[in-house]
Amino acid sequence: MEALLKHLIDITCQRDHALLDSSVASALHELVGAKQVRVHELFRFRDELFVRPRVWIQDGEVVSVEDSLTADHSGEAISKYPTLVDSIKDRKTCVEETSAAGDHILWLPVWLNDKVSTCIEVINSAPYSGETLHMIEGIMCVYRNYQNILDYSERDSLTGLLNRKTFDEKFSKLLASSSSDVTPGNQEDRRHHNTDGIGQWLAVVDIDHFKRVNDQFGHLYGDEVLILVANLLRSSFRSQDRVFRFGGEEFVVLLRSTTLEQARHIFERFRANVEKHEFPQVGKVTVSVGFASISNESPVVILGHADQALYYAKENGRNRVCHYDELVSSGLLHSEVSNDEVEFF
Ligand code: GH3
Ligand code: MG
Ligand code: MG
Repeated sequence: MEALLKHLIDITCQRDHALLDSSVASALHELVGAKQVRVHELFRFRDELFVRPRVWIQDGEVVSVEDSLTADHSGEAISKYPTLVDSIKDRKTCVEETSAAGDHILWLPVWLNDKVSTCIEVINSAPYSGETLHMIEGIMCVYRNYQNILDYSERDSLTGLLNRKTFDEKFSKLLASSSSDVTPGNQEDRRHHNTDGIGQWLAVVDIDHFKRVNDQFGHLYGDEVLILVANLLRSSFRSQDRVFRFGGEEFVVLLRSTTLEQARHIFERFRANVEKHEFPQVGKVTVSVGFASISNESPVVILGHADQALYYAKENGRNRVCHYDELVSSGLLHSEVSNDEVEFF
């Protein structure tokens, strides 16, 4: 009882998904006496579900993969785990199987609004008693409720995208963890761009003449356009990229591990997706996009670069994608390297 209370207090004092995952894994590991506990992330890529572990136990300690801009974000196809596939198909919250080696495996999918994006796997050498299963069920309920609360505080209520507060917290953290990933002294890597030209990109997306939509059709239609543009953003980027609603009709996209050519192609494809979309009642809507490479400069400078490129796109016809570095090198924009930080503050 004492140990259970201690773990519940630990779980419910977290304000961050990664720490919440670690405290749940630690609770299940200690209270069940399990051999292994893994917290898996489930994500969709090209209409297929994939699984990758976020947290697991190693040498008796809980370890987790830090979310970073340059980390490997690949996973395994969920079809490798048929019992997990069945548990999701049957909308179960707990399914037990015995492995070829005789281990007892529990699959615990976490359902949030009819969707599963997390699943916990518990591995034990002995079968689970009714009492243990009851305790696991209780911990999973606390975990799900708490994930719900955290999720709510991280998202924008209109579009369901991550909100500005989450961007501010995540972007600085991602920059910090990605800088510590790389070999010291390697200037190329420190800029998060390796020798293959693979880099990380930040784009600011702004709906063109959105005020006109509100003025002509009313706020409710304006809100619907925001929701539909958010859906187009979600479907145009990969699971390892991140999309935020930054403010009114402005969004920020973090595009990971891709070349400049691909980044341009991906942003251009999104712009075209919006242009060809038929918005109910409103008809056609377009967006302008400004993007910049994520260098080792401060978040405010990187964001400022993307904003300058967006401003240029707005001034030069709208409904276009502009790249900051290209505008600077072609003399269309002036880079104010040393004063940037001061000016943007
Ligand atoms: P530009 O092409 O230069 O970006 O022009 P714009 O009209 O899109 O830009 P402006 O900044 O003048 O107007 C943005 C409008 O977005 C003004 C504001 O009322 C509206 N807006 C901001 N948040 C919301 C919201 O949550 N819902 C609705 N319906 N409108 C919003
Ligand atoms: Mg606008
Ligand atoms: Mg705007």
